[in-house]
Amino acid sequence: MGNTLHGYCQSCLMPFKKDPKGAGREHAKYCSYCYTNGKLMYEGTDVREFKRAMIKAIVARGESKIKAHLFAYMAGFAPRWRKKA
Ligand SMILES: [Zn+2]
Repeated sequence: MGNTLHGYCQSCLMPFKKDPKGAGREHAKYCSYCYTNGKLMYEGTDVREFKRAMIKAIVARGESKIKAHLFAYMAGFAPRWRKKA
């Protein structure tokens, strides 16, 4: 595994330090929530859809809805969702 704990998930902006799988995650650029079992949790290109899926997943982990919405808001600024100019 060449993954590092430095940097952030390119899909949801979570710091890799906070990834429960840490450097043992599957993808170098994505956290273990966004990328697991060999594929992206959300494979589409619609950021709003991604945020909805993300909020569902976070609440399912037992986090508060407020936290889920905050994380989803932050995720909108991740490189994966940056508009191609
Ligand atoms: Zn992520």
